[in-house]
Amino acid sequence: MTNKFKLLALDCSVCKTERVMQPTTVSKMSNPVRAIGIILLIPSFIGMLFGLLMMFVSLTPSAVAADDKARHGFGVLMVGFSAIIIVLPSFVLGLLGWLLLMKKKIYKCQRCGFILDRA
Ligand SMILES: [Zn+2]
Repeated sequence: MTNKFKLLALDCSVCKTERVMQPTTVSKMSNPVRAIGIILLIPSFIGMLFGLLMMFVSLTPSAVAADDKARHGFGVLMVGFSAIIIVLPSFVLGLLGWLLLMKKKIYKCQRCGFILDRA
């Protein structure tokens, strides 16, 4: 670990110190944007959980009378369909929230705090 960091350490071009820049990560977005990301992630998780639960319930075989089978089949189809309608936007919302929370890879000088983007 220590050896790896020493190998990756760069010279700082601002304070002219050798091997003080170390790889680290910072948030790409500012704090208010990250708060929005978290707000998007919460309903997304609930939606996905709820949708998956609905799918599970619709796929679970239940005791149904023979003459009720057709109606039951239609009900299962409707539940499955609404589950997809819930899961899909939840997934997109989750992806968006995750993008807002993404971190950026940088090199940071341990001495003067100079930040360099890691390509
Ligand atoms: Zn520096």
